[in-house]
Amino acid sequence: MMMRDLGSTILACTPSYALTLADAADDLGYSPDDLKLKSGIFGAEPWSEGSRRAVEEKLGISAHDIYGLSEIIGPGVANECEVKGALHIFDDHFVAEIIDPDSGEPVADGQPGELVITCITKTCLPLIRYRTRDISSLDRAVCACGRTHPRIGRLAGRTDDMLIIRGVNVFPSQIEHALLEIEEATPHYQLVITRRDRLDVLEVRVEVSEEIFSDTVRRLEDVSEKIAHAIRTTLNLSAEVKLVEPKTIERSEGKAKRVLDLREEV
Ligand SMILES: [Zn+2]
Repeated sequence: MMMRDLGSTILACTPSYALTLADAADDLGYSPDDLKLKSGIFGAEPWSEGSRRAVEEKLGISAHDIYGLSEIIGPGVANECEVKGALHIFDDHFVAEIIDPDSGEPVADGQPGELVITCITKTCLPLIRYRTRDISSLDRAVCACGRTHPRIGRLAGRTDDMLIIRGVNVFPSQIEHALLEIEEATPHYQLVITRRDRLDVLEVRVEVSEEIFSDTVRRLEDVSEKIAHAIRTTLNLSAEVKLVEPKTIERSEGKAKRVLDLREEV
């Protein structure tokens, strides 16, 4: 309703949220013609070409990928032009390199590797050869759009175990740290990530002692809320906490399987 009333022309959000907004518009009986949207820039989570087509059709716009990271400037380090398929990195501000994550050596243009960024105009906190852990590639050929900024390939995963949940970067170790603060929780936990109505849902299963597990429902609710609060404070992300009996989280070779990512690609 606000986009219609204000005559918004550009939408910037995560691609999954764009699809949610498109469904909401549809539920309200709006067609793309009722909105003045022309383009959208979507990022903060990986998304497929199928998802791009869905957003473009449902909202009647041209959908573009945007890349950035909070350590550098947030969104806007690189962005797709009208040609799409790769993102121009603004190399008057950021020098991009692609390296082999194991050896640290640069790889040839076009080859996949870890994206490394050096800030050349940022003051106060410039980063030199900052390892993003994001997997991409580099194309220095002049783009069909005429721009000469090199292009990085759309992001193809990470070199570490970081998860992206509703656009928030999450390392399982951060959840572990949050759990350490809670005396009722054991360090045995599992993260189950699913998608409900196209939005990511994080369920945190935590083993508690037999004593707590057989305590009153009220006590269990208190412990769950305490854990949810600790996660919210640490990660700024809401999680559904489920307390489980001791030794119920599957372990392989004695090590718990920490993450079950059951999301289909956006
Ligand atoms: Zn271009």
